[in-house]
Amino acid sequence: MNDEVFEAYREAGRIAHRILNAGAGMVRPGASLLETVETVEGMVLEADAGLAFPLNCSLNEAAAHDTASEGDERIFAAGDLVKLDLGVHLDGYVADTAVTIDLGDHCELVAASRAGLDAAIALVRPGVAAGELGAAIQAAIEGRGYHPVRNLTGHGLERYVQHARPSIPNVGHPGGAVLAEGQVVAIEPFASTGSGVVSEAARAEIYGQVATRPVRLPAARQALELVRERQGMPFSRRWLDMPKREIALATLVRQGVFRTYPVLHDVPGSFVAQAEHTLVVVEDGCVVTTA
Ligand code: MN
Ligand code: MN
Repeated sequence: MNDEVFEAYREAGRIAHRILNAGAGMVRPGASLLETVETVEGMVLEADAGLAFPLNCSLNEAAAHDTASEGDERIFAAGDLVKLDLGVHLDGYVADTAVTIDLGDHCELVAASRAGLDAAIALVRPGVAAGELGAAIQAAIEGRGYHPVRNLTGHGLERYVQHARPSIPNVGHPGGAVLAEGQVVAIEPFASTGSGVVSEAARAEIYGQVATRPVRLPAARQALELVRERQGMPFSRRWLDMPKREIALATLVRQGVFRTYPVLHDVPGSFVAQAEHTLVVVEDGCVVTTA
């Protein structure tokens, strides 16, 4: 990795860290979810950076992939456990970082996800196996009496690609990828009071373009035009300001041009906490870009 690319990752990380902290401060009982999401996303654009994906704002048993819908009337309430997951990019170099805000009595659960992240970061260096990081995450979370979420993982980052190889599991696995100097990875342990397995909800507000092919429906063509600048990075339904949006989205999903990212949740009544940092693997360890 050359110095210019390294500095882009560092600067994206600094911006993400600052804005995620500001966003966390807005999450209070009585605050609007939609206003919070739009304010945070607006701060990224004001910083002359791009959003690598819509701000994820997932509540309680929802682990990931929720965000505000247009006209979303949800209000944060006492007792909620709120995950904010922010992706900032500079010229495609991504900082991916998440924090959990506890509006109830889940501070030990939140601490467990953070301990998993700290334990994994402490092990990162060239030559470490992704499975060793997963084992450290699993031990930290299970040692505190919770379940790591087994079917969500950290991931590599490449230019404009938010989910690249290698995947960094949240449980121990023998073998698997070995990290190398210059790789950029996001590590994101989830700790749950539920089953430790997430499944897809019906709700989907986040989309991504996964194929390019000619489409005939004018509304679908317009939607494709609007998201072209995303270069495959996810976008939200709320961002798509056009008539006939719903028919366009449905058509493009049916034709395999767009995919949805449904909300991922653990069992009803459970609580899931997440912590995430992006880091660059360097000769003697790693540099966390988002701290
Ligand atoms: Mn993330
Ligand atoms: Mn991530």
